[in-house]
Amino acid sequence: MSQPAKETPQMEKIVSLCKRRGFIFQSSEIYGGCGGVWDYGPLGAELKRNLRDAWWKAMVRDREDIVGLDAAILMNPAIWKASGHVDTFADMMRECSLTNKRVRADHVEPQSGTVMTYTGAQSPTGWKIERPISALLWKGTHIESFRKQVRLLISSNAGEAAGKAEEIELLGEAKGDEVTNSVDFHPETGGALGPARPFNLMLRTFLGPTASLDDPTYLRPETAQAIFAQFKNVFDSSRVKVPFGICQIGKAFRNEVTPKNYTFRSREFEQMELEFFIKPDEAVEIICGQVAPWSESADLSEPQPNWGWEMWHRYWVQERTRFYQSIGLGDVVHYYWQTQADLAHYARACVDILCEFPFGTEELEGIAARGDFDLSQHQKHSTKSQEVFDEDLKNAAAKLTDEQKEALIQKRLAAEQAKTKGEPMPEADVRAWFERLFKGNYVPHVIEPSAGLDRMALAIIAKAFSETVKTDDKGKSETITVLRFHPRIAPVKCGVFPLLKNKPELVAKAREVYALLKKHMNCFYDETASIGRRYARQDEVGTPFGVTIDFETLGEKGPELEDTVTVRERDTNEQHRIKIADLTAWLLARIS
Ligand code: ATP
Repeated sequence: MSQPAKETPQMEKIVSLCKRRGFIFQSSEIYGGCGGVWDYGPLGAELKRNLRDAWWKAMVRDREDIVGLDAAILMNPAIWKASGHVDTFADMMRECSLTNKRVRADHVEPQSGTVMTYTGAQSPTGWKIERPISALLWKGTHIESFRKQVRLLISSNAGEAAGKAEEIELLGEAKGDEVTNSVDFHPETGGALGPARPFNLMLRTFLGPTASLDDPTYLRPETAQAIFAQFKNVFDSSRVKVPFGICQIGKAFRNEVTPKNYTFRSREFEQMELEFFIKPDEAVEIICGQVAPWSESADLSEPQPNWGWEMWHRYWVQERTRFYQSIGLGDVVHYYWQTQADLAHYARACVDILCEFPFGTEELEGIAARGDFDLSQHQKHSTKSQEVFDEDLKNAAAKLTDEQKEALIQKRLAAEQAKTKGEPMPEADVRAWFERLFKGNYVPHVIEPSAGLDRMALAIIAKAFSETVKTDDKGKSETITVLRFHPRIAPVKCGVFPLLKNKPELVAKAREVYALLKKHMNCFYDETASIGRRYARQDEVGTPFGVTIDFETLGEKGPELEDTVTVRERDTNEQHRIKIADLTAWLLARIS
């Protein structure tokens, strides 16, 4: 008999299961950890690998129009200047005046209480603060415990110089205003917050023995820029034609101010990014006569030559949705279409694919139509052309009359004037751009689906996590955890069990079956404890199939069952009798 378990904090259970069964460990745990950094244990490594492979297969191997790249993490810092990361990849931060602790300006929880001010502080060691200090006396906090807390905070920030916390003298105490829902005090310390200042999220490092503080490079904060920086090399070496894409999977690093929600926001993580390069709409119009208009009923099943950026963007939203369906997340993804106000000045559209996590519905992937911003920036900063030449475009443009060409230019000029963000392109530049276009040259535009592998793994674990309370015949209840992974991405595909471990014939046959299957999939051999316990152990790590070698297998129950095994399905508990000769194919059909 089984029934749904009662509600308990799901995230805690997931974190504990992930550690207990070897999915995710805290980095450097034996030294107290390393904030916002995680390691994947044996099962986590398999899960991530399966997700990576599924993504690569869907995005690269199964398609003719996408190729891969595996670029270095370190790059010339000029790339990060050109991309805008050096100047703008920052969170606005505010600093606590008591502790120097920083908090993201948009993450300050509103506080209420009385503002207490001091003209300074001093201690018998001779240490002093000679500037005004203010902090919030929260409603319900006694003034004495407040003073004690302020002394402690000041002392822990000042270190040994300030001596004992209890001996610090707070000078010139005055009671100030009562405030309600103020965002000017640190939510943890109550210290007054300073002005918001940008805090760059890139992790700096120094390349080569002579590099100095003035000469840093960065651990890449995204994989995308290497794709742009290598665009020309890939284009020139791979016989690809626009539209085509370049994919990359790899590590990215961000010095997140508040890493949180387990692996969801980490400082080191992995991204899976596609840059799909397309013709500018004007080129499509010249070649095809018109750009296919998007509507809800548009057919997105097969890319067409007359697709402009909007159809391509919608197509990629659909393709990515299909991917999430294929790994079992179909019913927990949602979409947030960014509004004009949300969008960067160069972006035409961006949709966030969100997923239901135990801590809320949050971003899993962003799919942006970024125009030609990225390649144009690199063209400008590197002074190396990022243009491609398109013979069809040149030939089609040669057939246009001067009036038709002017009409295209006028349409673009009107669009530039209608822009609500960024500066319109000056007319001379627009005309120069068309001049190049009519000769068949342009910088490709790009659609960018950018997903996080660690967030995807966490989403998969959270979605798979389920608990039931099982009560046995004697009325004893036990909570059973099952990870209901989609077989395609489950870390272990199949458990192999001899019914009894003290029967050498059963064990030998089971080892034979294990060796057979292991060549094709990740399996786990287990001969200890009762068969029910072994099933339960595999259910807990999401293994979709269990193969038991029993007396029937040995032919002891008649020749017709000889060399057959019992295959149990995790989710249905259904059992099938399968011939060993057919077993590999039977399983492969269900896991691929
Ligand atoms: P967020 O708004 O959550 O910080 P973002 O919009 O900055 O994310 P992008 O720069 O678009 O994220 O990165 C693409 C993807 O990379 C995200 O959708 C996410 O899956 C992943 N990602 C980004 N930052 C992190 C992080 N700190 N930890 C784990 N994954 C991340």
